[in-house]
Amino acid sequence: MYDVIIVGAGIAGLTAAIYLRRAEKSVLVLEKKIQGGQIVGSFSVENWPGEQSISGTDLTEKIYYQANNLGAEIKFEEVTEIKEKSQNFQVKTDETEYTCGAVIIAAGAEPRKLSKKQTEDAGSRPISYCAICDGALYKNKIVVVVGSGKTADHEVRYLENIASKVYQIHHDDPIPKDAEGIFAAIGHVPTTQIFKDLVDLDEKGYIIADENCTTSHSGIFVAGDCRTKNIRQLVTAASDGAVAAEAAIKYLD
Ligand SMILES: Cc1cc2nc3c(=O)[nH]c(=O)nc-3n(C[C@H](O)[C@H](O)[C@H](O)COP(=O)(O)OP(=O)(O)OC[C@H]3O[C@@H](n4cnc5c(N)ncnc54)[C@H](O)[C@@H]3O)c2cc1C
Repeated sequence: MYDVIIVGAGIAGLTAAIYLRRAEKSVLVLEKKIQGGQIVGSFSVENWPGEQSISGTDLTEKIYYQANNLGAEIKFEEVTEIKEKSQNFQVKTDETEYTCGAVIIAAGAEPRKLSKKQTEDAGSRPISYCAICDGALYKNKIVVVVGSGKTADHEVRYLENIASKVYQIHHDDPIPKDAEGIFAAIGHVPTTQIFKDLVDLDEKGYIIADENCTTSHSGIFVAGDCRTKNIRQLVTAASDGAVAAEAAIKYLD
């Protein structure tokens, strides 16, 4: 039995873990991929206070080890279901299940998938969602970036230093036949579908919460990019982590 289980080891979840451990609460962080969340794919973060420029991986490592050194338990399992059970919560994962007194959902967001038509166009060609992660595989090859926003422009600039040719096309344009690699940069969607029967979501799937990070369900709190908010950034994710942790502490006490 843990005091708090946190879903997601992104910046929001790890910050919440730090605050909870400093208040002597037992904490389990469950992460389905790798620690750090979305920012792991960024090679330069320039708006994290105190750092002129730092890679997403280095920033994440620092926060991860801080949480770990304070005694947060971090396990790499995917949360598949959360249920209320006699005033506690039962958290099921792809491996086992755990019990806790309060939950913080810090499940963030994931890249939006290509349309059905573009996926068919892609055929057996791989689709990537991160130029920094996979760009090196396309040295001197032809690639296409799908998307027209700031992130897509950034991916194009990054790939231009590696690939022999970089196309940039809109969402739903046909994928060029000669492109060997496909990079999707068409935004993100909140990772909240498994929580839809537990907490209220808005029409885009974000968990409805105010600046106190409380949800429609008592004992369940939310932090970071997966909640309704105006600015989805590292510092606001960290801020939410602190607020959600304090709210959970108050609830438990
Ligand atoms: C390419 C890129 C560059 C960016 N650059 C900047 C920048 O320079 N400055 C800035 O301020 N912001 C930047 N951002 C935005 C910033 O990364 C996000 O606002 C921030 O990472 C959100 O943190 P989070 O913890 O809320 O969510 P996430 O980072 O999305 O982390 C959520 C975590 O939860 C995990 N998870 C989800 N569902 C489950 C489940 N069922 N079970 C277990 N684990 C689960 C995910 O695997 C993930 O690790 C960038 C984003 C991207 C994509």
